[in-house]
Amino acid sequence: MKQILHGHIVHAPKLGALEILENGYMLLENGKIAGIAGALPDDWKGCEIIDYSDRIIMQSFCDMHLHAPQYPMLGMGMDLPLLEWLNTYTFKTEARFADVDYAREIYRRLAKELIDNGTTRVCAFSSLHLESTLVLMEEFEKAGICGFVGKVNMDRNGSPELQENTEDSIRDTIKWLDACPKDAHIQPILTPRFTPSCTNELMAALGKLAKERGLYVQSHLSENTSEIEWVRSLHPDCPQYWESYDKYGLFNSHTVMAHCVHSDERERKAIKDHNVVVAHCPDSNINLISGVAPIRQMLNEGIWVTLGSDIAGGAILPMMGVIAEAIRSSKIRRIHSNWTVDFLTVAEGYYLGTTSGAHYFGAGDGFANGDPLHAIVIDDRHYVDTHRLSIRDRFERAIYRAKTDDICAVYSAGRKVK
Ligand SMILES: [Zn+2]
Repeated sequence: MKQILHGHIVHAPKLGALEILENGYMLLENGKIAGIAGALPDDWKGCEIIDYSDRIIMQSFCDMHLHAPQYPMLGMGMDLPLLEWLNTYTFKTEARFADVDYAREIYRRLAKELIDNGTTRVCAFSSLHLESTLVLMEEFEKAGICGFVGKVNMDRNGSPELQENTEDSIRDTIKWLDACPKDAHIQPILTPRFTPSCTNELMAALGKLAKERGLYVQSHLSENTSEIEWVRSLHPDCPQYWESYDKYGLFNSHTVMAHCVHSDERERKAIKDHNVVVAHCPDSNINLISGVAPIRQMLNEGIWVTLGSDIAGGAILPMMGVIAEAIRSSKIRRIHSNWTVDFLTVAEGYYLGTTSGAHYFGAGDGFANGDPLHAIVIDDRHYVDTHRLSIRDRFERAIYRAKTDDICAVYSAGRKVK
């Protein structure tokens, strides 16, 4: 089936480069992008046109780090640093997901809010519960979300209501992997919570599984200084935090590491050399007083940086808000470097929240030919002065100001889902 979308087309094929087609046309063949043009080519004539005149068609977002079972505590518990925050709020909230009906209700609402805000691809943590993790995958699938979901592994330093023993953790992980549908848009990803949560025995078993089944891995790295000290005491043989994952084969080009706020030059070199993906979570890092990650340095060093909401350490679910936070955080680094370090531009922030994450799911650059369409349509015609503004200005205003209702359509994997 051939369809044409008509509107102002904005996408970010390269870091810092926005491509804008005013009154452009995008040809879709069975939901896949088959071309973009400034004027309607003769051989496209006769196809059904979906008219988004004077609206902005832009790439949808990739949230590369979020905790689905923390959705009920979104926007709460913000007066504590990471380790106290985990023990006081987080573990109690996640423990409720032992109840599958509760999980179904919460995850359905989360999936809807993600799609309504234009997040169509995710790398998400579930809780440690096998059944509820499958429910999360089902609800994401039904809503039209693509990407990865991981059953969390944690066999130490949890809480009485939220911890597995090593044997159960390994057994449930295998049961869960075997229960995941093979051709779904949501696939499993191994998810050791973070080094302090997993015994060496568990890490070794996960490393073995990752290798045997070619699985992707997600976890946390160097978020907070107390956490880094803790890891050092747990792994005196590892000079740095990342080595506590690498030792077990859990630090490679299939790995997403959230935060990396305090990764120094040596750790960043390891991230780069192993082609590990950094999920930068600027709102969470400030809320939990963790720090401001050196994103400009990482980009200069060629590190693969993406963005995550990290709800509920992060209090902003819409990725447009997360992009704006990433830009602000980079400006804080600029201020504290005596203006020697460049901040992120809006075009760069948008690239990190879209194309850079999409690469992890195998997509090309921007709206690339052959890729299933992941897009949102912004209707900003009711804002002031819209008719006077350039598309570039309207795009920027959308990043900083657009509300959920301004996203009038969402496409995920070639299908209209809002
Ligand atoms: Zn996290």
